[in-house]
Amino acid sequence: MILSLSDVSRRFPNGTQALSGLGFAIAEGSFVSLLGPSGCGKSTALRLIAGLLEPDGGTIRWNGAKPELGFVFQEPTLMPWATALANVRLPLELKNLPRAEADARAQAALARVGLDGFAQAYPRELSGGMKMRVSIARALAAQPKVLLMDEPFAALDEPARAALNDDLLRLWREDGMTVIFVTHSVAESAYLSRRVLVMTPRPGRIAADIALPEGPRDRLSPQFLESQRVIADAMHRPASPARAERAGGGGVSERASAKETEGE
Ligand code: ADP
Ligand code: MG
Repeated sequence: MILSLSDVSRRFPNGTQALSGLGFAIAEGSFVSLLGPSGCGKSTALRLIAGLLEPDGGTIRWNGAKPELGFVFQEPTLMPWATALANVRLPLELKNLPRAEADARAQAALARVGLDGFAQAYPRELSGGMKMRVSIARALAAQPKVLLMDEPFAALDEPARAALNDDLLRLWREDGMTVIFVTHSVAESAYLSRRVLVMTPRPGRIAADIALPEGPRDRLSPQFLESQRVIADAMHRPASPARAERAGGGGVSERASAKETEGE
């Protein structure tokens, strides 16, 4: 396990209890979806993991030193006055990398997300999907060990989203990084990850820890529909102690309960 959260809670100064009793552990190199309804505390959980916020209670532990993290938000958050290349290069410059090396790494990162020809383009010249690609390139340029993604594709049209889903999977396989992918889309979680952590409504905690079958990702397969059914069921059933399961047909199946896997 590269990361474990145990009994994490967070309340905001206005009294909103965003998270309570949140616990899960993430295996190194895995691609895990964190799925839940709007307002259940997904972004808060990611910000806690990133160290941008402190928990009120519970523990967040890395296995060893805190690794290099990449963060991708729903909004691409690009500087409008800077080229794609300059946007990707900025965090490297902030780390005092020599300009030539920062340039080379930024160029390589743009190529990896399919934007070789667009280094000199400005954000206003790029589509929503391309801006998101720049944002992903910026995160990858720092060579993160763990990539935190907060509903990165929620604002994109369906074809752009599907293309980015596949490219993200390719980047994950190439790099062997750990990805924690926040989404409120059942279909997206079923497509991208083999493990889906379903959160309860606010205050968020894990409602179900679902293992999906390995195998080719095929949106037209019966297995994909079955996976979505199991995930949606977990998302919509009334709050109860954390459950762990696997989607059926010998495919989706029970794993140790979310509580038990904590702190592994
Ligand atoms: P999600 O990402 O799942 O939609 P968030 O983590 O953004 O949920 O928010 C969880 C809850 O905490 C929501 O009710 C939200 O309004 C509230 N919240 C988030 N950030 C703050 C903040 N800085 N101050 C007060 N309330 C907040
Ligand atoms: Mg959010």
